Amino acid sequence: MLKWLDVLKFSNNGNPEPDCRVSKTDEQWKSILTPEAYRITRQKGTEKAHSSDMCTLLDPGRYACVNCETPLFDSEEKFESGTGWPSFNQPIKNNAIAYHKDKGFGMYRIETVCNTCDAHLGHVFQDGPRPSGLRYCINAAAMKKLDTNLRKVTLGGGCFWCTEAIFQQLKGVADVKSGYSGGKVMNPTYREVTSGLTGHAEAIEITYNRDEISFYDLVNIHLMTHDPTTLNKQGADKGTQYRSIIFYRNDEERDASMSAINEVQEAYDEMIVTDLQMFEAFYEAEEYHQGYFNQNPTRAYCKVVIDPKLKKFKEKYTDRLLKDN
Ligand SMILES: [Zn+2]
Repeated sequence: MLKWLDVLKFSNNGNPEPDCRVSKTDEQWKSILTPEAYRITRQKGTEKAHSSDMCTLLDPGRYACVNCETPLFDSEEKFESGTGWPSFNQPIKNNAIAYHKDKGFGMYRIETVCNTCDAHLGHVFQDGPRPSGLRYCINAAAMKKLDTNLRKVTLGGGCFWCTEAIFQQLKGVADVKSGYSGGKVMNPTYREVTSGLTGHAEAIEITYNRDEISFYDLVNIHLMTHDPTTLNKQGADKGTQYRSIIFYRNDEERDASMSAINEVQEAYDEMIVTDLQMFEAFYEAEEYHQGYFNQNPTRAYCKVVIDPKLKKFKEKYTDRLLKDN
């Protein structure tokens, strides 16, 4: 996650390398952009405050550069700032945006441009919400919204090697990442999280296609595939970092989580103690944790702990598995 000091470093020492570059002549840009988009993105213009409905739009989706269509921001990072311009607290990738010092109108500001095509987007300030504290103030005319059926859900149920291995098998799941969520520390390391002092739970972030599987079903499967009745403990793993937890992103998801808990409770003798928490941030774990089970199938932990869980899961959810199972 980028912070203000990272932004200052980029604007001082040079920007990160973009994935690719797009360049066109002024005439070419003029021919594909509306006059307003051209004025803003190619001539560093600013649109009038509150001139676009995009300011208050919080529907899921991504926001791409209107010039080169490179995705820049995700709706997950969008917030209503009240300024009259669309506002985000993180770019979609660290190298999506380039930063330049701008001394216009007698003040220093940090200008943001598309790192792929140099389109002027707006500015970034350090008065945004937690956890990054950044506010990317972006002209709506510099972006286009890409709609998507993909949604994200963040769940914790003990060691993320196990939960990741399970959800990777499901139809409708596009991607699973292992990481940390629900704590107070930004960009924590594995070592910090295992100390139990950061407040984070080991968690997975699942990207799923809502046309193929629902939030309710995912939460239901989650509750059935780990032990949600043991407080701050999963098997031999003990500590708050192993707590059973569902992160909801809105009231609907909170209500669906509570219904799923009520439904699944019948399957357990003990009370379900799964924590429900408003989603705030997910920090990807170190690279060696990603796809751990697939990378290390012969390790003792995988054989003894994950294999039997996976077997049980596959027997129970045969009709929900990806075809190659
Ligand atoms: Zn661009």
